[in-house]
Amino acid sequence: MERFDLYIDGSFDAGAARFASFDPATGAQWAEIAEAREAEVDRAVAAAGRAFREGPWPAMTATARGKLLMKLSDLVQAAAPDLARLETRDTGKIIRETSAQIAYVADYYRYYAGLADKIEGAHLPIDKPDMEVWLRREPIGVVAAIVPWNSQLFLSAVKLGPALAAGCTVVLKASEDGPSPLLAFARLVHEAGFPPGVVNVITGFGPTCGARLTTHPGVDHIAFTGGPETARAVLRGSAENLASTSLELGGKSPFIVFADADLDSAVNAQIAGIFAATGQSCVAGSRLIVQDSVKAGMLATLAERAARIVIGAPGDMATEMGPLCTARQRDRLHGIVTASVEAGAKLICGGVLPEGPGTYYPPTVLDCTGLPDAPCLREELFGPVLSVMGFTDEAEALGIANDTAYGLASGLFTRDLARAHRMIRALRAGVVWVNTYRAVSPMAPFGGHGLSGHGREGGLAAALDYTTVKTVWLRT
Ligand code: NAD
Repeated sequence: MERFDLYIDGSFDAGAARFASFDPATGAQWAEIAEAREAEVDRAVAAAGRAFREGPWPAMTATARGKLLMKLSDLVQAAAPDLARLETRDTGKIIRETSAQIAYVADYYRYYAGLADKIEGAHLPIDKPDMEVWLRREPIGVVAAIVPWNSQLFLSAVKLGPALAAGCTVVLKASEDGPSPLLAFARLVHEAGFPPGVVNVITGFGPTCGARLTTHPGVDHIAFTGGPETARAVLRGSAENLASTSLELGGKSPFIVFADADLDSAVNAQIAGIFAATGQSCVAGSRLIVQDSVKAGMLATLAERAARIVIGAPGDMATEMGPLCTARQRDRLHGIVTASVEAGAKLICGGVLPEGPGTYYPPTVLDCTGLPDAPCLREELFGPVLSVMGFTDEAEALGIANDTAYGLASGLFTRDLARAHRMIRALRAGVVWVNTYRAVSPMAPFGGHGLSGHGREGGLAAALDYTTVKTVWLRT
């Protein structure tokens, strides 16, 4: 049985107790995980507070911090095959996807390594001849970074990279589901040589570990990724310590296809957009909004392509879709699919629970045309389920696309440039992908509004979010 420890104040820590981690492909326990409860959270926050206020971290130059981040990036790259295997084993995400994503993780650390010494203050040409006034950009303090189970290495890189570049210290909380890749990542933090307490990596359950961390008086900023319901608990928690927050939450992203689009390219993007990561992605293109004249053809092609998806062991390079992460998630998903069919949605393919071990679910397409309130259209499903609506014209497409409380990503397929611009202006989403889907870059801000949260990750602005401005007045 493999064992994974917490990482607090530069040491590996066995935690308050241990809990089991299960392999989603077989349902069998494969690892024992150290659990952080209140005492471990307190130790980690205290260590991060000391590291923030006392040496050597605050005395380190921005360039030196950047070098440490660069070293971390190199170590992540060198350990990529091991980290990918762990993530696949612990979450069921297929090895093709975890291997590809680790390359991005190293890229994000490299990007923020380069940015560390480019976070600049400003000088104000104030209207007083005997005064010098300038703005210092200073790190915000101790950051609690909380991530969900999917893409934990990636979702922590978009927090740790800018936070460390800005000079903050961090308590990173891995999800209780599939935490082993982040606890293994802590060994790379140690090897890179970050001073004790600068990065602490813990895991534990929401009501104990998560709640203690978000209410802790020693926390200055909470960078949270997860579901909207948990985000509400996080915000209530932050009412205690008045920490600032950034929230990256769920999505119900529209994927709009006009009849004039390159339909082959649209189908390829839609297949990847909804079935990659077995649909367990915040940017899953989960609502296909397709022009009536091409709808029947597109549905037939999607069903035919869905039937050809190779479903199998996540660790096998030939596998194109793996299991869901947990049985809890599969039960919820199947319940919503069943309720949607009962409400009148037409099952185009999938929707049947497979026999056998593991938490597998088939690629599923539901035609919900005329049923705007079908449960599968309203809720984030976090699974391989595509809900389809037809439309006649641009105004109707836009109305359906924006008929959601979420506002994270959106996809648009058309060859009409003027229409693309009109739609880009009117779509209520933090990201619009036109004739492509799911592209990301460390340089490009990412985030949403409404139930999808607030704040942006990626790019220079994200690093500035981990700073605060000190205004200095000096009489000469
Ligand atoms: P979740 O909200 O259940 O859990 C997220 C994290 O919050 C976990 O670490 C959990 O332990 C912790 N947590 C739970 N209760 C807490 C509490 N009371 N206080 C503090 N922390 C608490 O999410 P999940 O099911 O693990 O992940 C799926 C969700 O994450 C989906 O909604 C998905 O869309 C979203 N997500 C968003 C993005 C994005 O960038 N916008 C990316 C990936 C996933």
